[in-house]
Amino acid sequence: MSIAENIARIREEMKKAALAAGRDPASIQLCAATKMNDAEAVRAAIAGGVDVCGENRVQELTQKLSENAYEGAPVHFIGHLQTNKVKQVVGKVALIQSVDSLRLLEAIQKEAARQSIRQEILLEVNIGAEESKSGFAPDEIPDLVNRFSEFPNLFLRGLMAIPPVSQKPGDNTKFFQKMYALTVDITTKKVDNVCVDVLSMGMSDDFADAIACGSTMIRVGTAIFGRRIYN
Ligand SMILES: *Cc1c(COP(=O)(O)O)cnc(C)c1O
Repeated sequence: MSIAENIARIREEMKKAALAAGRDPASIQLCAATKMNDAEAVRAAIAGGVDVCGENRVQELTQKLSENAYEGAPVHFIGHLQTNKVKQVVGKVALIQSVDSLRLLEAIQKEAARQSIRQEILLEVNIGAEESKSGFAPDEIPDLVNRFSEFPNLFLRGLMAIPPVSQKPGDNTKFFQKMYALTVDITTKKVDNVCVDVLSMGMSDDFADAIACGSTMIRVGTAIFGRRIYN
């Protein structure tokens, strides 16, 4: 199967899941998780109609930006970002989805102020309370959102989550439902620098469940590009 065929199939499944949930398929974006795939594969995904590219590693982002790999689609940062690398990401991507600590939030604010720009971000929630994963605890989110008037160079667009690896359909539904409830909670807040309309959740194995629970952006790697070869 080619990348274009994979994307066409995923679009069909997205549409089915959306309609089954009474949702407009156009309200859900497809983000290609491009880690470990080269510029040529990224270009094929954009030609195949993904809405967004999501990059995990600063080094890959920098390399592919230098190759104009993302031409035709916005690029988001979706991996763990070290505070000493924010300069290489802030202002280079449309959205940083994976803001997982207050320290990182403050570092991005500082760099965005230096560049005189506004950086759009999502807060990453450690929804499965996994020790191996970074992110905010769900109960930290409401207070943090209330503090956003302190971050004039940031714009909070919503939440992102990477739940535990699912074994079978339905496994992560409870986490997706919690994320949706948390998003609804903060959507009703009127805070400066906050306008919540993105809920980024769902990957190759569980995106249909995520869409059923209100995801507005799924991040798909394997189902688009095939299995990643880790050495
Ligand atoms: C790799 C990755 C994905 C996609 O995972 P697949 O299971 O390959 O679809 C989504 N989100 C993040 C943050 C990732 O690192």
